[in-house]
Formats: sequence, structure tokens, C-alpha cells
Amino acid sequence: MRWRDPLIWSIATFTTILPASAQIPERLRPFIKEDARSLVLNHVRVIDGTGSAPVEDARVVITDGRIVSIGSAAAASAFPAGAKVLDATGKTVIPGLVGMHEHLFYPLPGGGPDRLALYGEMADSAPRLYLAAGVTSARTGGSMEPYADLSLKKLIDSGQIPGPKLHITGPYIGSLSPTLAQMHILTGPDDAARLVDYWAAEGATSFKAYMVITPEELKAAIDRAHAHNLKITGHLCSVGFTEAAEMGIDNLEHGLIVDTEFFSGKKPGLCPAQAANQAEMAKSLDVESAKVQKMIHDLVSHHVAVTSTLAIFETSVPNRPPLSTLARTRMALTGKAWASYLEGRARVAERAATSDFSALFRKEMQFERDFVKAGGLLMAGCDPTGYGGVLAGFGDQRELELLVEAGFTPVEAIHIATENAAKFLGEDGLLGTIAPGKAADLVLLSGNPAANIHDISRVETVFKDGVGYDPEKLIDSVKGAMGLR
Ligand SMILES: [Zn+2]
Repeated sequence: MRWRDPLIWSIATFTTILPASAQIPERLRPFIKEDARSLVLNHVRVIDGTGSAPVEDARVVITDGRIVSIGSAAAASAFPAGAKVLDATGKTVIPGLVGMHEHLFYPLPGGGPDRLALYGEMADSAPRLYLAAGVTSARTGGSMEPYADLSLKKLIDSGQIPGPKLHITGPYIGSLSPTLAQMHILTGPDDAARLVDYWAAEGATSFKAYMVITPEELKAAIDRAHAHNLKITGHLCSVGFTEAAEMGIDNLEHGLIVDTEFFSGKKPGLCPAQAANQAEMAKSLDVESAKVQKMIHDLVSHHVAVTSTLAIFETSVPNRPPLSTLARTRMALTGKAWASYLEGRARVAERAATSDFSALFRKEMQFERDFVKAGGLLMAGCDPTGYGGVLAGFGDQRELELLVEAGFTPVEAIHIATENAAKFLGEDGLLGTIAPGKAADLVLLSGNPAANIHDISRVETVFKDGVGYDPEKLIDSVKGAMGLR
């Protein structure tokens, strides 16, 4: 690649330095902290996203939105002319997170047993919270409002609103229940193919199959997505993981907990009751058994990636996450949405004595470790759905903490949430690691997440294409809005 040639970057970047502020759209300015065209992070710790050990006391040079060089802060080389130099002693820079199971919606409060579940598009809050948390790229994992998602992407890309680089997935292909009124109920394989063709033409760049979908409909959706050179993932139920891998699916969401193929009551092409599947899995499925290990092997040999969504599963585990960790979530939510979350949390806690979820959560973590050990491509996302409480951005940070709880090192967890995802998206030439020539999508953190993964939440500045956003200003601007707009 041309940019890797040091001579070419020096010619391209070290000429006349103009302030970048001139090019920053007016509407973004209130959120921007660093707008120098050329910026040096000096004495910074670098965790580069490749899984390599952190490099201490480094110097990262950014010019015109790209990473120009990474070297030792002790080196005598001159700074680019006119560069702003930040002393980042004690701080860490990581690649911007690439969230792979994200949503721009959130469950609307005010539901209940006699009301329909509805998900509202968080058009203002979700993009800002993603960016504030260091998620500089996000793939949606199924959409309730595909036109709104596509419009938000255009507004972000044209600098009219702040937000991450979005990869838009079309509407869910498949359904769960007719009471989920925002989902389309498929009428057959032709319908699934038609839906893919239509949304590919409208601009969706990925697809997601959903729980109640026949094998024939799934096959049609996979084939049409591939005909458009697009990838398709699935949160499946009627079809097991091994069968979907053989059909050619590219990615599976959530992991073992949602795989129905080992359930004794599974009937071909039908989605069994989730509670029964999960109860049996919690009680008797051994992740180290030959059958589960064979499924893992089949996914790896078919190059099927898995997206970890531990943050959303955690909300089904009684009394997790600790309430004391949710101060930011509470501030971001409307009062009603927070109350609704607490009600859901209380319902989960009431069933603590009989809940299968603590056991399932441990099995899921074991499955994810084994999948990576077997050579599988694991990615991460936060899936802000369920009964609430998992929020855009904050949920992605929690996801990293949970990957570490699962047994990955912090550096491995960061690798999963950055380079692995960029590879899957085919964007690893530009995103996912800190390397010369790549986009300066970076998160500057206080502290050292390699030693303490909780420092992943101590975001000081989020750089997208070299422009530094202030996380506090982004978060403050949507205080009390999540759950409403
Ligand atoms: Zn989801």
C-alpha cells in the first residue's frame, strides 16, 4: 500500500500546515476538543489493536486525519511543522472500537403485559453515545427503522451530526412473534430474496437473519446477500449454527446461548421455546463435549465469525451488573426509561433462586474462549435491547470488561473489539489498528486498560479521522434523552 512508504507520507503530510478547524462543519464544533491539522500524542502508551503488548512512552503523529507514524517519544525526530503536541504521560491510546452488534434504537418504556413491544429510534442519543464511548465504527445488527438508520449515516458522513462511521444492516429478515409489530413476517424464500434485493438497492450494506426463519428462507437470504457481495449475519433459532454454517452464513450473533441444535426437543426448521432450550443447556450441555467442539470446529472451518454480546446477556443474570456501575446509564436515560429498567431488573432478581442464567452466562464465556482457541474470529457488540439498561457505547465498554471476565487479557479483548471487526468488514486496510497510513480513529484513555480494563471507560478524547471529540460534551448534550429520542 502506498501510504506505508515513509517517503510518501512525509511528502504528503509535512508540507504547509493549515488549521483543520477551517474544514470542521459548524454543527460539530460544540463537541470538538482537538482540531489541529497535525497533532502529536507524546509519551503515550500504545495498545495497537493487533493483540501485541502495549508500547510504553511512544509518540503517535497524526496529520490530515491519518496516522503518520508511531515511534519512541525518546527519538530525536522533529515534530511536523505547526503540530500541536499533547503530553499524554500516563495515558493510553487504543484504536477506535468497531462495534459489531449495535442498534440505533432502544426499547421504549411504558410497555407491559397488555401492550406491544416497541423500539424507538434514538436518532440523537445513540450516535453521540457511541462516539463518546470510543466506538468510531459501528455495524447495526438488524434495524427497526432502516430508512432512519440510512439517513443517520448520511447525516454523520456529511458532518451534520456527530456519530460513528456506520455500517447499515437492513430490517430483520425473520421475526419472533406477530406482536413485534416493527418486524416483517416472511412469506417464503422469494419474499426473503425480495427483501434483500430491495434493501441492498436502498443502501444497506449488510443483513441479519432473525429467529423465526425457515431453512429455505435463510438460504435464499444468504444467496441474495452474497449475490450483492454483502455479508449476512444471524441471530438464529429455527436453524442451528452448524446448519447455518453449511448454508454459507458469514457471522452468528450472541453465541452458544442462542444455538438450538443441541436441544432434545428441537424439530427441523422450527424455533423451540427459548426457556426450555436454555434450561436444558444450563443443566446438561457440556461446552467441552465432542458435539459442541465439533460445532465450533465447523464454524471455524466455514469461516463463520461470532459476535460476542455479553453485555446484553449480563442483564438476564440476577443482580448484574452492579447498580453502582450504572450512574452514567441513569443520567442518559429518561426518568421513565430508568424506572422501566429497574422494574425489569427486579423481575430478573425475583427469579434468582431458579434462574438458569448464571450457568448459561459462564457457558457462553467458555464457548467464546474455546471458539477463539480453535482459531475463530470473535468480534464484540453491545446489543442495546432486552428490557433496557444496556446503552449505546456504555454497553460496548462493558462488553470489553466482560470479555476480560471471560478470560481474555485486556489486550486480547481490545483486539477482538477492533482489528477482528475491521477484518470482517473488509476495512482492515484503514481501520482497527494503530499503524501508519490508517485513519486516525483513536481513543485516548486516562490510565492503563492493559492493567485495569475498567479504564476503558475513562475516555479523554475520541478521534475520528483525526478530529478529537469531547466525550463529556457529547454525553451532556443527550442527558435524559435515551429512551425518548
Ligand atoms: Zn440485537
